[in-house]
Amino acid sequence: MIPFAPPRIDQETIDAVAEVLRSGWITTGPKTKLFEKKIAEYCGCKSVLCLNSATAGLELALRWFGVGEGDEVILPAYTYAATANVVMHCGAKPVLADVNPDDFNISVSAIEEKIGPRTKVIMPVDFGGLPCDYKRIMALAESKSDIFKAKGRVQEQLGRILVLADAAHSFGARYNGKRTGALADISVFSFHAVKNLTTAEGGAMAFNLGGSFDNEAIYKELCVKSLHGQNKDALAKTQKGSWKYDIVEAGYKCNMTDIVAAMGLVELNRYDADTLKKRKHVAELYHKAFTICSWAEQPLLKDKHRETSYHLYPLRIKDIDEPKRDAIIQKIFDKDVSVNVHFIPLPLLSFYKNAGYNISEYPVTYNNYSREISLPVYYDLTNEQVATVVSAVIKSVEEILQ
Ligand SMILES: *Cc1c(COP(=O)(O)O)cnc(C)c1O
Repeated sequence: MIPFAPPRIDQETIDAVAEVLRSGWITTGPKTKLFEKKIAEYCGCKSVLCLNSATAGLELALRWFGVGEGDEVILPAYTYAATANVVMHCGAKPVLADVNPDDFNISVSAIEEKIGPRTKVIMPVDFGGLPCDYKRIMALAESKSDIFKAKGRVQEQLGRILVLADAAHSFGARYNGKRTGALADISVFSFHAVKNLTTAEGGAMAFNLGGSFDNEAIYKELCVKSLHGQNKDALAKTQKGSWKYDIVEAGYKCNMTDIVAAMGLVELNRYDADTLKKRKHVAELYHKAFTICSWAEQPLLKDKHRETSYHLYPLRIKDIDEPKRDAIIQKIFDKDVSVNVHFIPLPLLSFYKNAGYNISEYPVTYNNYSREISLPVYYDLTNEQVATVVSAVIKSVEEILQ
């Protein structure tokens, strides 16, 4: 069976983790701090906070911005549940927008239609690793500052809607000469086991706020927020005579451990030269193979302004419906190849359906979803395995479409 997205774990990763285990310090400490610094350098953003998940990062950002009851957050209907769940945690309302037919990302004109006086945050999702149109989204947030109703210190300081990127897929992707992390006010990466760069579980917030914001101060503030509101972390408390601490707010508990940061450092060190290069190679092999298939709609990987991180290869089959797509997937699995669907749109999930969201209001999302099959992309995938995937997909489509 060809798996869908196994992590790349080799001796270097194992050695790095073993080194931390033997060091006497296993939770947040020097490895995490170094990983944060290296991510900030890599992304070209102002500061980075590592956490135990992207979900925690998205929620911390909303809490920091003061999002709560009565507020609205605009996000795509076509994303993983985490993007919307964090808005629910804060007691605010996820306002869903439809996506583009060409690149799966949130439609900027759909965002514009949904902006109102309750809108506090826009959460674009870089689907499959392709950056959203941040230039237009940032300009849109700016242009609506006249209707933005600021509540509290941070909202007053920003004076407009916050652009919080769900960059769970797009670590290392580029847009207008910059990497993700340097494109929105705050961007959040995921280092979950299936993501491009993994620490088993993990995530990071990249701060890139302009104007009068001190991104280093925000980093420090959120460090405290991510650790019970405690004004000293565990490492600082080990310093001679430093046992005394205070709790300055009822904070959360979502810090990264040094064990996983060590994995992340290994991954980051070889990210451009190995990981991205290999993922791009796999995507290009798929692209080449499906060019001759009239039924294949290949994903956009690159255009004049941007290039994906090659997280997913979201193939679409032309002119099919959801039952046919599901049948094709079954045929592919029967040939010992694992594929996936990204994602089941939020309005099709019980919780969001019961909350009143209706898929008929997001026709492009449904159309993309009903024809989508994500193919395996990972570091250890060989050229022969790619050929096996391609032939399994072609045969399966032909079996169903004949
Ligand atoms: C994986 C994922 C997340 C959540 O990441 P975690 O690190 O597991 O919290 C959020 N958004 C999208 C689009 C994802 O794919």
